[in-house]
Amino acid sequence: MPHHQIAIIGAGTAGITVAAQFLKKDKSLDIVIIDPSKDHWYQPAWTLVGADTFDMEKTRRDQKDLIPKGAKWIQQKVAELNAEKNELLLDNNVSLTYDYLVVAPGVQIDLDGIEGLREAMGKGGVCSNYIDPEYTKKTLKEFKGGNAIFTQAATPIKCGGAPQKIMYLAAEMLKKNGVANDTNIIFATPGSVVFGVKEFLPALMKVINRHAITVKFFHKITKIDSNEKKVYFTITASDESNCIAINEKQSIGEEVTGEATVAIKYDMLHLAPPQSAPDFIKRSNIAHKDGPNQGWANVNIHSMQNPDYPNVFALGDVAALPTAKTGAAVRKQAPVVVDNILKLIAGQKASNEEYQGYSSCPLVTGYGKMVLAEFGYGNKRMSDPMISTFVDTTKEKYSMWLLKKYALPYMYWNLMLKGKA
Ligand SMILES: Cc1cc2nc3c(=O)[nH]c(=O)nc-3n(C[C@H](O)[C@H](O)[C@H](O)COP(=O)(O)OP(=O)(O)OC[C@H]3O[C@@H](n4cnc5c(N)ncnc54)[C@H](O)[C@@H]3O)c2cc1C
Repeated sequence: MPHHQIAIIGAGTAGITVAAQFLKKDKSLDIVIIDPSKDHWYQPAWTLVGADTFDMEKTRRDQKDLIPKGAKWIQQKVAELNAEKNELLLDNNVSLTYDYLVVAPGVQIDLDGIEGLREAMGKGGVCSNYIDPEYTKKTLKEFKGGNAIFTQAATPIKCGGAPQKIMYLAAEMLKKNGVANDTNIIFATPGSVVFGVKEFLPALMKVINRHAITVKFFHKITKIDSNEKKVYFTITASDESNCIAINEKQSIGEEVTGEATVAIKYDMLHLAPPQSAPDFIKRSNIAHKDGPNQGWANVNIHSMQNPDYPNVFALGDVAALPTAKTGAAVRKQAPVVVDNILKLIAGQKASNEEYQGYSSCPLVTGYGKMVLAEFGYGNKRMSDPMISTFVDTTKEKYSMWLLKKYALPYMYWNLMLKGKA
């Protein structure tokens, strides 16, 4: 059976970053990366693609050109992970063993998590930047007015701010296209707040009021009826007084369909689809067996080490970390994982516990405007001094838009994936 010193599952943001950082530190490491995808996607720009201000093709690169020199790439899917035996079974029935394992396969999109979603997605105005941002763009461009509904998933999702970023851009696009006066923009979220880090709320509330967006809290999407063009929600608030809304309007025509269910007719519907850890992770012995993190990779939240299998680390979207799942978070997690595994190789303990939950959400609030939300565990604001010394990142800024549209993609391809940032 083939054996490698370090096996990395997933050649996405986390997998490539970790591999590049390892090889920068020590060229002699024996690293294998396993990922079936021939393409590598810069997903943060999909928000801009959906809003017709970034070219989809520029978010894609050939995976083969990104695998760091010195690492071996197996273009297969991992089917089973057996941490007890240090063994991975691949889709082609080949198994391999490892000394150290980095788990970074991201999330899986669960189209069957909402009744009617699989049939509805990608047609009739039902779109998602998580799945096909080009269809979001087409939907917005062709939108002629009515209810434009943007929803938030009830599961953990990557980039929790993405569902509202596209809504703010859509609001401006619809205005430019002359249909804003005939449109109700609705944000329906199962949550009780627009954004969890309080410092950024005033700026977001300004945008919501600027466009008179109706925000419906405690609205968990349960069903899409694509024939009737209706979306159904369960109201999750414990009592009626909690069931608040912002900019409530009669014209959206919310209809009560049961004791705790409502339906709204949509003319376009943008979703953050339900997401979970890939099935082979859920089945594996490194996943949380129960509790709120069930199925996600179990790790120490500061060192990213699995508590049961000390030679296994997980980072990126798959890891059960109480912070936002973003590429920005990966950037701070990767050096900790690399340092800890190098410590283990050197016969020391994996003592690096430096990760404090840093994540960041570039909240695009319009064309040419952005609020940069940076935070750590406990939703505490945590700013990179490089930026926050010069810019008040809690306010909408043109400079932050330039960062999102130009600087961050450049940094991603040229620095982060090369192990330099
Ligand atoms: C619309 C949208 C907007 C976003 N905006 C931002 C943003 O503004 N800022 C930000 O920082 N982040 C943003 N993100 C989130 C960011 O893209 C992710 O957090 C980041 O890519 C996570 O990296 P990862 O390596 O964990 O997963 P990914 O980059 O998704 O990579 C996972 C890899 O694992 C592979 N894989 C899956 N299953 C298997 C398997 N069984 N075997 C082997 N390989 C497998 C996949 O092919 C893939 O290549 C956004 C995401 C989306 C969708």
